[in-house]
Amino acid sequence: MLVDSHAHLDSERYAEDREAMLVRAREAGVETILAVGIGEGPDTMHAALDLSREYRCRADMPQIVVSAGIHPHEANLADQSALNKLDTLAVEPEVVAVGEIGLDYFYDNSPREVQQRAFVEQMKIAAAHKLPILIHCRASTDSTNAWDDALELLNEHWHATGLGGVLHCFAGEYEHAKQAMDMNFLVSFAGNITFPKAQPIRDVAAKLPADRMLIETDAPFLAPAPNRGKRNEPAMVQRVAEQLAEVRGSDYETMALTTTENFYRFFRLSPTTRAQARETGTNLGLQAEN
Ligand SMILES: [Zn+2]
Ligand SMILES: [Zn+2]
Repeated sequence: MLVDSHAHLDSERYAEDREAMLVRAREAGVETILAVGIGEGPDTMHAALDLSREYRCRADMPQIVVSAGIHPHEANLADQSALNKLDTLAVEPEVVAVGEIGLDYFYDNSPREVQQRAFVEQMKIAAAHKLPILIHCRASTDSTNAWDDALELLNEHWHATGLGGVLHCFAGEYEHAKQAMDMNFLVSFAGNITFPKAQPIRDVAAKLPADRMLIETDAPFLAPAPNRGKRNEPAMVQRVAEQLAEVRGSDYETMALTTTENFYRFFRLSPTTRAQARETGTNLGLQAEN
């Protein structure tokens, strides 16, 4: 069994075959997907939640839990109405995290001060709802600038909540992961761990404690080798588990099980409630264990 901890299921790149794509994921052993609710911008932040409800009772698909948030690329759209929308979505039972939020100094699609403000505002909303956060952090080339700033903001505005979160698509240094783990974060690896030049990512992955690791696809982006450049999908999370197992001298089954258990434990979810939910047809497939 596998969990894809980060996928953009509402992407228009699945418009033609979304159901078939989700069935393929289930056939590949994917039991749960965290569908990231950033939409194509704040206006469609709810799209992931809509999908999780549409497919709630489908036994032939993974169960879908979701997040909601404003991506740093769209931080310039994080006005009061966008933040209010996030605040409203955060109460929904399917929403298990706020994200992806953070800083992207590689593309700088929004000015850095604007990204920082949107990041902090969304941390406040997450804290108010006691939800963990999904972090997107990408520094400029040959720099750690976004990590330095993100960790400083996390220390100032998030550490004390103890809620932690996930560093998604991790490509930082071990020291960044370490500082975040001290704030109760998990570290999620994506298909880029398979790329030839990704030895620094593999080196970090080899060193991390097993109980802090997750796997994801970031689909439709970042298809792992040998499909690099093509559309990605959650079934491919298998490749990430295989690569992680190789890097850590472990085996595929262990890696799949460990990352799946880490996900359920961190988000306080239980896979066993799913069958009951399907029977009644009324309930969310996953329920808080405590
Ligand atoms: Zn991201
Ligand atoms: Zn993403």
